[in-house]
Amino acid sequence: MPDLFEAPADFAPRSAWQRECSGCGACCAAPDIAALQKPLGAACRHLDAGCRCGIYLSRPAVCRQYQPDWVCGEVSALPTLAARVARFLEIYGLEAEST
Ligand code: SF4
Ligand code: SF4
Repeated sequence: MPDLFEAPADFAPRSAWQRECSGCGACCAAPDIAALQKPLGAACRHLDAGCRCGIYLSRPAVCRQYQPDWVCGEVSALPTLAARVARFLEIYGLEAEST
């Protein structure tokens, strides 16, 4: 089974060593999530100001199945949700699509 925390070989060194979710909120704001009609780059309407899920116990399957990976170390140390989202989108080459 692949190590989800192993960054691609051609990727720049990570900004932090992290192997668990820090609750930074980036994965609830950066990707588009069809099940929630959530567009790319916009925070989920259920994400509260503290980057916690307001419907955690009834969140959809796509959220339940999401697993932390090496990208967490790239984004979660950044100081604001906007910065974390920007970095998340940059990693996946999606900055242009989110504007
Ligand atoms: S991007 Fe990673 S660290 Fe941040 S909330 Fe999502 S799983 Fe957790
Ligand atoms: S429903 Fe909850 S876990 Fe899913 S994207 Fe929204 S805030 Fe995140």
